[in-house]
Amino acid sequence: MTQTEHKPEVHDTPLVPIDKIVSLCKRRGFVYPNSEIYGGVSGIYDFGPMGVELRNNIRRYWWWSMVQNHDNVLGIEGAIITHPRVWEASGHIENFVDKLVDCKKCKRRFRVDHLEPANLEQHLCPVCGGELTAEPRVFNLLMETYLGVVEGERMKTYLRGEACQDIYLDYDNVLKSSRIQIPFGICQIGKAFRNEVTPGNFLFRQREFEQWDLQFFVHPDEMQKWFDYWKEFRYNWYMGILNHKDRIRFREHAPDELAHYAKQAYDIEYQTILGWQEWEGIHWRQDWDLSRHSQYSGQDLSYTDPNTKERYMPWIVETSGGVDRTFLNLLLDAYEEEPDPAGKEPRTVLRLNPMLAPVKVAVLPLQKNKEELVTTAKDIHKKLQRLMVSQYDDIQNIGRRYRRQDEIGTPYCVTIDFQTLDDQTVTVRERDRMTQERIAISELPMYLLQRVSWQ
Ligand code: ATP
Repeated sequence: MTQTEHKPEVHDTPLVPIDKIVSLCKRRGFVYPNSEIYGGVSGIYDFGPMGVELRNNIRRYWWWSMVQNHDNVLGIEGAIITHPRVWEASGHIENFVDKLVDCKKCKRRFRVDHLEPANLEQHLCPVCGGELTAEPRVFNLLMETYLGVVEGERMKTYLRGEACQDIYLDYDNVLKSSRIQIPFGICQIGKAFRNEVTPGNFLFRQREFEQWDLQFFVHPDEMQKWFDYWKEFRYNWYMGILNHKDRIRFREHAPDELAHYAKQAYDIEYQTILGWQEWEGIHWRQDWDLSRHSQYSGQDLSYTDPNTKERYMPWIVETSGGVDRTFLNLLLDAYEEEPDPAGKEPRTVLRLNPMLAPVKVAVLPLQKNKEELVTTAKDIHKKLQRLMVSQYDDIQNIGRRYRRQDEIGTPYCVTIDFQTLDDQTVTVRERDRMTQERIAISELPMYLLQRVSWQ
């Protein structure tokens, strides 16, 4: 990212309670509970006008970094419903399970892999100290669905439990239709569905969510090199969009956590009020996925090197992260309640990176009842709107309008005042430092574009 002059204003603020973000998201149109008028559905959310802009920007920036800026990476968009055999081959039907214990006293449920060993051994509820059920119950997380209309002829299949399976299914098609050669990668952003037994913590653990994956196909001799490359690349990508750079870290998987084919694996973790939590996984998948799909489909997915004629099953480096966790973590990272020097209400500000902010600029006439100010402001807004998301606002006094924009993270507010009518300049107020600059209207589009777009 080489955005002009974006130096985030970082204060040593305490970790933000999730409730504050939930409330801001509802109030300002980022996220709503799905089917709210019917009482909602646990673990399922909708994105409102601000949320959809932020999500689109997050997705586009990922795509730009991963696909557009790598000659050896291509993108696909696979279907949500696949052939049911896919989930046998992937191991999900057998192994995609959560083990669950219940507290007999407070009735809370816990995933066995989320409990401290001491609680597990002593069957002790970590919340109320009550007794936990001894035998864990096992749940498969795949969501079932049916294809076909005639009873008896309907085929049971699944909504995809992870988005990346489509990449393995399309690997051979991409190879043949694009003339790319190993080493190369395929990226995808898409929805995944899991019957999570403990959905919660807002967007952190949902039942319908979105993942972004890279599957990078390599010769076995080059596995370590590419694993190291993508591990660093993904970490730096997150570092580039965070303000609190001390709240991200790698966690290496312990030997007993590793899949049998994996030499190593890392989680990129982010620290929130809930503790350190997984944000993205960097996985050593070896030849597991393509070998399994070759075996189950009967199609040989091995690769022949066009130069050496060597035939082998490609190995895979996977980077798999969540759009929703990125959305949530970025809001937690950006949220600040800044004390007001005059002792008035604190200023709530989202210090989002300008290129990701849902609204890039707000155009504000100083007064609503001065026709010339309003006409000039609307004209500027119309022109800016073709280049970036711009909001026109003339309701309430200018201070309140600034506050409204701060709360949704708008990096620049442009004010049209009486001087504008004389010399064709406007005031540009910057969100983080609240500094103001006078800029000629003719220079405004370039001034803003340099600060809100990525190059
Ligand atoms: P966890 O251990 O937290 O359940 P996981 O290891 O099962 O996560 P993966 O299957 O590796 O997660 O999925 C890749 C990424 O997808 C995760 O790093 C996370 O960002 C996102 N993700 C996984 N499950 C969910 C969920 N239920 N809600 C939101 N995002 C999720």
